[in-house]
Amino acid sequence: MINKDIFNNTEVAFAIKSNAELEKAYWLFRMIKNESLVKLGTGVTKFALKNHFPVEGLIKTTVFDHFCGGVNEKDSLPVVDKLFSKGVYGILDYSVEGAETDESFDKTLQKNLELISFARDREEIPYAVFKPTGMGRFGIYEKVTAGDKLTEDEQAEWNRLVDRYDQLAKKAKEFDVPLMIDAEESWMQKAADDLVEQMMEKYNTEKPIVYNTLQLYRTDRLPYLKELHKRAKTKSYKIGMKLVRGAYMEKERERAELMGYPSPICATKELTDKNYDDTQAYMIENIEDMSIYSGTHNEESSYYLTQLIDEYQLQKNDKRVWFGQLYGMSDHITFNLARENYNTSKYIPFGPVKDVMPYLIRRAEENTSIAGQTNRELELLAAERKRR
Ligand SMILES: Cc1cc2nc3c(=O)[nH]c(=O)nc-3n(C[C@H](O)[C@H](O)[C@H](O)COP(=O)(O)OP(=O)(O)OC[C@H]3O[C@@H](n4cnc5c(N)ncnc54)[C@H](O)[C@@H]3O)c2cc1C
Repeated sequence: MINKDIFNNTEVAFAIKSNAELEKAYWLFRMIKNESLVKLGTGVTKFALKNHFPVEGLIKTTVFDHFCGGVNEKDSLPVVDKLFSKGVYGILDYSVEGAETDESFDKTLQKNLELISFARDREEIPYAVFKPTGMGRFGIYEKVTAGDKLTEDEQAEWNRLVDRYDQLAKKAKEFDVPLMIDAEESWMQKAADDLVEQMMEKYNTEKPIVYNTLQLYRTDRLPYLKELHKRAKTKSYKIGMKLVRGAYMEKERERAELMGYPSPICATKELTDKNYDDTQAYMIENIEDMSIYSGTHNEESSYYLTQLIDEYQLQKNDKRVWFGQLYGMSDHITFNLARENYNTSKYIPFGPVKDVMPYLIRRAEENTSIAGQTNRELELLAAERKRR
């Protein structure tokens, strides 16, 4: 049983950061904490990039370097190696977002196929990941989710999308590299869920290779998992699931209100937290049938998972249980858990600066809007500055 105080060990948390990097991180989080500055900054950045102003260099040396591994996978390898020197695994996430053409989906597909090969020979990279909208248009997922009839062209487009998932899952199985698929907005997610379920059925016959993501700010996700579990048992395949709280809360609530349907999001943060932890408990209770990747910066939930590991007498580094944080955030959780020998990883986004901007903007906004999160980062960085 570990002591929860380990999360306060800033020496371990920031061991790979030089003094200069520590200062920079402190400065960055102080900026991000300022909501009006973030609003202004994101607005100006979007405008500048759209109008080809030379701001990429500035973004690169500030937010980009803090939250991303590099502009391509090779560029990101020093980050992966540095993390692994402290027992932390790295998950390379090609974070180009907002594409809308077949050409760009095929490019993302190729990149992700390459990443599966790249991970095969590297112990330090345990998973490959992709986003549903990296493989197809948001609008087509939306239409399939709504159950609308597709035109002939749309059906062909959907078939191409299905084929992209299949190519990735097939290669993941062949190379024995588990593949995680992110979750996005609820009004496109059912189409992705059904597709990922098909892939699980096809490729998870021996062990979880294909993982879906559950956003536990949604009220319906634990019941969904329980139903999926029944289907998986009947058809004899394993479930792989990444758990997150969910990154699109404001958007979800706004749309529900605008369109007059009940919000799919838990009414309070406490209910989201309970939902998250109940789902962790359900998964550990049924660990013979599934694998869990707990993607969170929440200390309580991370600690609770260590307690569940104890309670069910699993090894700390049981291959079916993983912890994950985003690169650039919550090092106090990642590095302290890794030191205790838990399977711990960072999602490391990479890609050309301009293309990862939506991701970076989400991180900046999330850190301003989540009460306590930035304060906690700042408090820990300040403690480490003082200690040094
Ligand atoms: C490795 C990793 C992978 C990720 N992949 C995805 C992904 O595929 N899809 C995705 O959507 N997100 C993803 N995220 C982001 C994630 O969903 C959260 O936005 C982020 O991690 C913050 O939640 P938390 O559990 O870390 O922390 P916390 O600070 O404890 O929780 C903040 C979260 O709680 C929820 N919340 C906040 N206020 C309320 C409220 N009033 N009522 C109800 N709920 C509330 C929101 O989801 C908010 O983001 C990922 C995160 C990690 C670490």
